[in-house]
Amino acid sequence: PPTPEALRAALARVQRLDQRHHMHPFTDPRALVQAPPFVMDAAQGCYVMGQGLRLLDAMAGLGCVNIGYGRPELAEVAAETMKQMSFYHSFAGVTNPPAAELAARIAALAPGALNRVFFANSGSEANETAIKLINLYWRRRGQPGRRLLISRDFAYHGSTVATSALNGLTAMHKPFGIRTVGHVAHVASPFWYRFGGDLTPEEFGKRAADAIEHKIMEVGPQNVAAVFAEPIQCTLGAIIPPESYWPRVEAICRKHEILLVADEVVTGFGRTGRWFAQETFGFQADLMTLAKGLSSGYQPISALVMSDDFSDVIGEQSEVLQHGFTTSAHPVATAVALKNLQILEEEKLVTRIADDIGPYFAARLTTLEQHPLVGEVRVSGLIAGIEIAEDKASRRQYPVDLGVDQLVGQAALARGLIVRPAGNVLVLCPPFVISRAEVDFIVDALAEALDQIHTALMAS
Ligand code: PLP
Repeated sequence: PPTPEALRAALARVQRLDQRHHMHPFTDPRALVQAPPFVMDAAQGCYVMGQGLRLLDAMAGLGCVNIGYGRPELAEVAAETMKQMSFYHSFAGVTNPPAAELAARIAALAPGALNRVFFANSGSEANETAIKLINLYWRRRGQPGRRLLISRDFAYHGSTVATSALNGLTAMHKPFGIRTVGHVAHVASPFWYRFGGDLTPEEFGKRAADAIEHKIMEVGPQNVAAVFAEPIQCTLGAIIPPESYWPRVEAICRKHEILLVADEVVTGFGRTGRWFAQETFGFQADLMTLAKGLSSGYQPISALVMSDDFSDVIGEQSEVLQHGFTTSAHPVATAVALKNLQILEEEKLVTRIADDIGPYFAARLTTLEQHPLVGEVRVSGLIAGIEIAEDKASRRQYPVDLGVDQLVGQAALARGLIVRPAGNVLVLCPPFVISRAEVDFIVDALAEALDQIHTALMAS
């Protein structure tokens, strides 16, 4: 085995090379000059390992490693497929067996008439594809004026040019000079805890849905192409809408003949305890985008799933679809995704969330609502948001600049737990294979971390 000196030298080399040559996503490059990057180099089950630490990853990577880390079945499928056919493209009418099987499998699982699948490599690309095909759809239907996309505050749909414009985060369009005006209209998020005031969740959910209709009437329905939305807004706070919200949003879209796109990149493939969050919330989209849980993050792969009505319009004219990626329907990625779906089914991981570990996770995590720093714990299946409050009664928040969520996140990390601070809220989306003992560890570590930061805030 390598000596401790050799291990230290190897780590230092990786950090040096990385600091000099690697530009990281969502990272301040200056910060990496001051402090070296953390080197993660192993993962198993619900744990990630690096630099001598073993951390319980209650974020499943970035909400993707649903079947858990280090499953040999997926490695074997990847190796076999690479040996059989490492790559061939899917342009100009060529396919490969796992791609066809996976498209059919997704269509069988997807709700309603979502039966036609386009493959891409990331959630951003799936959403970008949706935007292009929506424009094509309305041109084919003789309504080229329908170009405006309605999105929401706190939305996250990706980091390509068009998807950045959809995001509720102005930080993702402003610095790059990406224009939203004329392309995207943002409306309020169904974020009851922060914006519900005296309304019941039920009343607020209806009002938040009506904000979409008001925007449609303001800009003119004849100009609106689609409403783009995550069933649960995960990235910016695990915002779970009241039950009254989704059926009403769907009705508004139907009334004005506007397409409804469900971005199920995080919620798809079981996270809420049903295969798709559309089933959890009782609505049906015309288009659905998927990524992360499709391969549990073992391969970069994503999908846009279209309704029959939508794909019929796209296919009604004999014209080449001028869109695609070299690695769309990659045989290795599609084979790995198929195996991942097989594991989810054979191990009944989705029903386990509905019937067993999901309710346990919710029951244990909501005990944290007793904590003086916690305003609300919201849970759906294995996705949760813990709202940090300065004053529980009035739901007042700490100034975001104070970074209380970051402090609690760091205190949790010091106890071996990864959660995701997202601006006065901590987000959790653990792997589906998480055990009850691991849930207990999460709750205990969070309680201690919250105590530590609460004591420090009281003393300051
Ligand atoms: N849509 C949602 C809801 C997401 O959470 C994300 C990523 O976090 C994306 C789209 C973008 O996916 P990707 O990072 O694979 O491009």
